[in-house]
Amino acid sequence: MSDVRVRFAPSPTGYLHIGSARTALFNYLYARHTGGKFLLRIEDTDLARSTDESTRSILEGLAWLGFAPDEEIIFQSNNADKHREAARRLLAEGKAYRDFTPKEAPKDANVKDAIKERARAQGDEKHMRDNPYRDLSSDESDVRAAAGEPFAIRLKVPVEGRTAFNDQVYGIQERDYADTEDLVLLRSDGHPLYNLAVVCDDIEMGITHVIRGQDHLTNTHKQILIYEALGVTPPTFAHLPLIMAPNKGKLSKRKHGEVVSMTTYRDAGFLADAFRNFLALLGWSASEEREIYSLEELIEKFSLEGIHRSNAVFNFHPDDPRKWTDDKAIWMNAEYIRSMSLEGLLPHVKAELKAAKLWRDEYEESREQLHERTSASLEIGYKEWFEYTVNLIRQRFFTLKDFSAQGRAYFSEDFDFDPAAIAKNLTKFPELKEWLPELAERFESMEFFFEDIIEEVVKAFAEEKGTKLGVIMNGARTLLTGVAVGPSMLAVFEVIGKERSIMRLKSQIAWN
Ligand code: GLU
Repeated sequence: MSDVRVRFAPSPTGYLHIGSARTALFNYLYARHTGGKFLLRIEDTDLARSTDESTRSILEGLAWLGFAPDEEIIFQSNNADKHREAARRLLAEGKAYRDFTPKEAPKDANVKDAIKERARAQGDEKHMRDNPYRDLSSDESDVRAAAGEPFAIRLKVPVEGRTAFNDQVYGIQERDYADTEDLVLLRSDGHPLYNLAVVCDDIEMGITHVIRGQDHLTNTHKQILIYEALGVTPPTFAHLPLIMAPNKGKLSKRKHGEVVSMTTYRDAGFLADAFRNFLALLGWSASEEREIYSLEELIEKFSLEGIHRSNAVFNFHPDDPRKWTDDKAIWMNAEYIRSMSLEGLLPHVKAELKAAKLWRDEYEESREQLHERTSASLEIGYKEWFEYTVNLIRQRFFTLKDFSAQGRAYFSEDFDFDPAAIAKNLTKFPELKEWLPELAERFESMEFFFEDIIEEVVKAFAEEKGTKLGVIMNGARTLLTGVAVGPSMLAVFEVIGKERSIMRLKSQIAWN
């Protein structure tokens, strides 16, 4: 156990997008690596933009990735009273002031000039301290407030000095007070503003390390001013490099839509383990030539020092449906599908086949169970067949969806034929239209239907017809599976089985 407490603090104004998911991951890994706590705070104070649906979608994305918070979820809007109390305290201590500027600020040029003149006289070139209410006496301020005049509360940023902190990724960060405006803490309707809410909640939750996107760097300086005013030592900060679009532009929910949403990846058949691994490498590395890490390994290797300063790029191809997402993400998913334990993969394949209405409960009945139930004595049960088949076809698959798409022919009679495969493997060799049904007849007389026997039969058949073995095999592959590529054709014959192979070789559907 350590006293590290980190939090992921999404604003529920959309789904969980890739940048936020990466922030959540890094917080999660840091908490697990240090033996600390990972907390979740939903920053739902922007009432106009926050929706319950976003909150649900974010929680769904986090659940998919496996990041469960260690304590109860905090909803920021529930803490508004505490935020208001903090603002009032700062006001009472003279560290904040009431700003009575009406919503419609004076447009009078003379007034504006007078304000500028006064600011200049005070050495405030950037006009950060030109609010006429900054120096109102507290008596007058109280009187006007008591008379019911509406006001916002602003932080009274000191004139001289600078905020500084040692960012764990970007190093020492400094900013002159003169570059920060007297930020609003409470709006005139009593609504606490973002920076105040974040600071109060981080203090209340005992956050020791704030790990968040680099786009918050300016906020951090403002938040440090609030910490200073409240007399609380700020936490340690670590800002994460941005994730850019392929053209190096900003990645945005608005511009790039679903391609950056976590649920898109779940629904497209990505494995959470693989996607988490991919996310980890968007801006972090363990200084070694290696890309595949289990969650346990990521936890063990993760450190704030390993976070990069340069921006990461998410290489999706929105205009190319075959390569719609990052090449590495797809490659990594394929790598997981191919090499993870079969036992770990099977439940995912089952879920995919269920969703595609291709699942049959027999796929879980072993040879022995079948024997007990029906006293039938088969070479293998469906369970063994299913496991063997999944293991065979997974070698070339990229996503779980492939099991129900390219893999459909293994689980159903109702599958499509790829026109390119038909053109390449069938239409080009018209003689196959008669030969393949003839091959089917040879199969009918076979007692055993195993790879080596099938090989003998098909080889003899090709020789007899004076054609290459490949021509027969490719044609058969297209009729049996609808596509032009796949595992060894002998293995395909075997798992499709004698009866179904015969039926498909004889069928003329693909020829018409
Ligand atoms: N709610 C902010 C966001 O979604 C994060 C704030 C923070 O991490 O401090 O960008």
